[in-house]
Amino acid sequence: YEYPKQNLAQFMIDTAKKFPQQTAIFFYGKKITYEQLLKETYQFANSLKKLGLEKGDRVAIMLPNCPASIIAYYGALMIGAIVVQTNPLYTERELEHQLNDAGVKVVIALDHLFKRVQNVLPKVEVEHTIFTSMKDYLPFPKNILYPIKAKKDGLSMEVSYDQHTHSFKKLLSNAPAKPINVLIDVEEDLALLQYTGGTTGVSKGVMLTHYNLVANTLQTRAWVYRSEEKRERYLAMLPFFHVFGMTTLMNLSIKLGGMLILLPKFDVNMALKLIDKMKPTTFPGAPTMYLSLIHHPKIKNYDLSSINVCISGAAPLPGEVQERFEEITGGKLIEGYGLTEASPVTHANNIWEKRKLGSIGIPFPDTIAKVVEPETGKELENGEVGELIIQGPQVMKGYWKRPEETSNTLKDGWLYTGDMAKMDDQGFFYIVDRKKDLIIAGGFNIYPREIEEVLFEHPAIMDAAAVGVPDEYRGETVKAYIVLKKGATTDEKELEKFCRERLAAYKIPRIYEFRDSLPKSLVGKTLRRLLEEE
Ligand code: ATP
Repeated sequence: YEYPKQNLAQFMIDTAKKFPQQTAIFFYGKKITYEQLLKETYQFANSLKKLGLEKGDRVAIMLPNCPASIIAYYGALMIGAIVVQTNPLYTERELEHQLNDAGVKVVIALDHLFKRVQNVLPKVEVEHTIFTSMKDYLPFPKNILYPIKAKKDGLSMEVSYDQHTHSFKKLLSNAPAKPINVLIDVEEDLALLQYTGGTTGVSKGVMLTHYNLVANTLQTRAWVYRSEEKRERYLAMLPFFHVFGMTTLMNLSIKLGGMLILLPKFDVNMALKLIDKMKPTTFPGAPTMYLSLIHHPKIKNYDLSSINVCISGAAPLPGEVQERFEEITGGKLIEGYGLTEASPVTHANNIWEKRKLGSIGIPFPDTIAKVVEPETGKELENGEVGELIIQGPQVMKGYWKRPEETSNTLKDGWLYTGDMAKMDDQGFFYIVDRKKDLIIAGGFNIYPREIEEVLFEHPAIMDAAAVGVPDEYRGETVKAYIVLKKGATTDEKELEKFCRERLAAYKIPRIYEFRDSLPKSLVGKTLRRLLEEE
């Protein structure tokens, strides 16, 4: 494989030339063609130039999936600016940390977030803010799912404009739709500062180049794409501000001339309606999304047969979810794996080849993966558990302004993933657990995922998490958090017996707590850190 050395935004320019009249975006009934999308993106790029933005300056995009989130991203890249994707759910404190850490000059946000952004401005170096409203694209945006409810959260959506506070729509209408030429070194210059999920600790800025992102989009295409003629329709439920959605939805669809059916927030009812009506062929997602679809009480009322293939990532995919989803849709659900530091995908089960249940598949094209002893980097035998390390064109340059963390993670040209894994004789990889989640009880190493898998087999259990809690004698002991299926019952005693039949004695959870739900990240990962902190 040779990956083109080009600005990532070239994807949009090329596709708009090839398929100008093709629908690029479908947003609550509104359709935007590639020609129109490119025009508005040029206008936005020119507006940023007019505001004084230069190559290398940082631009924060704090938007849910909506047309402006795509235009802002590609527009900023066109002028060589560095995009900082910002979660619209961030509190003022988190926002302040990220804007300062990245040294952001311009923020583009939803009008719902006006107050929150305004409150942070005195503490950061931001020069301009740009606000967009759903009204910019839809005259009566009544049924839109917002990730935050401004009124409920006591936030004002009334934006007061001045010479540093701009309307997205007005900026576009005052700018020319002409191409911009900036010279960038695509292998060196950054396209993105992508903050990690913060599942295990402080969120760090991952430096990704244009080359990283172009390569990972094309690598994903090689594993799941079918033919030039087949226009894919992507249901975009994963947020674009998360690297998984950004690469496998937004960038892939724009590259291939597909249609992005946008959902600003995951909502299972809306997702089912959209699949039934808009006939998407694919939607990458996290296991919790597939789980909530298959358990929907009215699933039989919807036609889901348009789904051809979906990639599940971000967390382990339970076999039962995969089988049920495939039965219902008739399509394939394949498991992949990645991390922000690798743009993000490094492995997946290839759709044409043999798959293995419970495996993350084989490495992407041009990706080399090894399982090693974490301390020495010595390669282990097949079947032995060690740290997964990666080399490939999608691997980051390093962490932004964190040289020490960079040298702990990028060693001798390898990315140390922090995930414990094993490889079988056929080269399929299996994630065992995160290195950091390891529980050490009485000197024994326990991987919480193994315990969770056993709990998932219990017919009454809907969701479960195992964490280590301090214990006087054993150092740590295992505590299980359990969410029961609707109407199901069980108790501690019965669960302990169930685990005893399936796990070695030292792995059996000693403490059980029943909950209505577990804390989740936006892509549906259990926030184990919060449970541990409790
Ligand atoms: P932080 O690095 O800040 O703690 P995070 O790890 O959630 O946050 P991401 O880069 O979003 O940041 O997530 C990558 C991690 O997700 C991987 O290192 C791995 O632990 C987990 N992961 C991804 N795909 C899978 C999968 N298929 N099975 C198991 N775990 C997965």
